[in-house]
Amino acid sequence: MREGSLKLRPYLDDVGVMIGLEIHVQLNKLNTKIFCGCPLDYHDDEPNTHTCPVCLGLPGSLPVINRKSVEYSIKVGLALNCTIEEHTQFYRKNYYYPDLPKGFQITQYDYPIASNGYINIEGEDGEVRIRINRAHMEEDPGRLVHEGGSIERSKYTFIDYNRSGVALLEIVTEPDLRSPKEARRFLDKLRNILGYLDVVDTTLEGSMRVDANISLAGGSRSEVKNISSHKGAERALLFEIIRQKNLLRRGGKVVQETRHFDEARGVTVSLRTKEEAHDYRYFPEADLGPIRVADWAPGIQETLPELPDARRMRFVSNYSITDDHARSLTSEKQVADFYEQVAAEVDSKLAAVWIADVLKGELNYRDIGIDAFSSEYMVALVKLVAGDKISEQSGVEVIRTILDEGGNPDEVVAAKGLLKAGGDIVTTAVVEVIEENPQAVEDYRSGKPEAVNFLTGQVMKKTRGRADAKEVREMIIQRI
Ligand SMILES: [Zn+2]
Repeated sequence: MREGSLKLRPYLDDVGVMIGLEIHVQLNKLNTKIFCGCPLDYHDDEPNTHTCPVCLGLPGSLPVINRKSVEYSIKVGLALNCTIEEHTQFYRKNYYYPDLPKGFQITQYDYPIASNGYINIEGEDGEVRIRINRAHMEEDPGRLVHEGGSIERSKYTFIDYNRSGVALLEIVTEPDLRSPKEARRFLDKLRNILGYLDVVDTTLEGSMRVDANISLAGGSRSEVKNISSHKGAERALLFEIIRQKNLLRRGGKVVQETRHFDEARGVTVSLRTKEEAHDYRYFPEADLGPIRVADWAPGIQETLPELPDARRMRFVSNYSITDDHARSLTSEKQVADFYEQVAAEVDSKLAAVWIADVLKGELNYRDIGIDAFSSEYMVALVKLVAGDKISEQSGVEVIRTILDEGGNPDEVVAAKGLLKAGGDIVTTAVVEVIEENPQAVEDYRSGKPEAVNFLTGQVMKKTRGRADAKEVREMIIQRI
């Protein structure tokens, strides 16, 4: 834990970095929006085609809570080690913004669905616990599309209400993060957990949107809004630290403000300098009564899958693999499932090396998922290498070929002639080469050791490179 750590964090620790995150997670695996029956699967459809009076906020329309959205939110809350209270309540948060036509957002205020949790992450110097203040449910507003692609340059703005009313879970951390890298690791870990829970498709655009609060040395904090990628969050925070640090060094003062991250330029720009004292006039959403969720939680707790941390520890003890390998293999549920299928058939340590070190690297390089490779192929491949039928180098070539051109391991090995030559073939070749080259044999015997290189080369030629050159060399020396 952080308290026990004495190691200084170079560069960042001297300025007392404090980072807190608010992550808007779209529960996009639901079939419908949070308060109406509009379908969620809108990403390929025309703007404003998935709307109804409820999600457009037309007068007189009444929201009806999507029961599954509550279940999913409790599920996430429990996975984040939160407390689920007796009951939860929705509020109206009143403000006007064009993406919110009814003039208020239905959200939670007191009585959020989940509170007081935590996630452990790999910090700069060991495992650290990042506290979760709360997770609350709310509706997503519509989406503003700025003509020309940028807030500053656009002359006008479109509004797409397809997103309006999608269930969001806003996860709010305490300011426990100490560096941009930790923030990114936190986000990655959160994404992994959400993936295990199967409540969010994190590959969809806008499925995880991040607001980051950052302050140095206990000074005022700036808030960077609406960062859409984990890498973007890391870059935005790094930029903010340097900006605030330079400001302080020049004797300036960090003002509390809201900033926007310009992904293309890698800079944050001020949106609103003086945060107006918000009076949202929260009041309970009278159209949705309090929901008693205390009885739901135990049943949902039972449906929780084994989560990444628990699975990692089990991998280390069950399969005798390193913590690094286990961490890599459990970072995505599909990869962990894949590994377990392979490890059931072949040596678990060898399987870990081939999947974590080789296959994952090749997949990352091509930016594709584990489903591009079958676990049966991996079993076959590990068997080929373990049985000394192909070299490790050939094993890598087999994986690359399958990913790029298709085929299965046996086909690729046959087509590329990767099978190591069997002992008999090599022995025969050695005998033949010695017979066919008496002059070289004579040279070696009369004190010219380099003659053996020539003979080795001849054997390699005869076996079309499938013999082990070092072994061949020794076999020749033994025989002459
Ligand atoms: Zn609707």
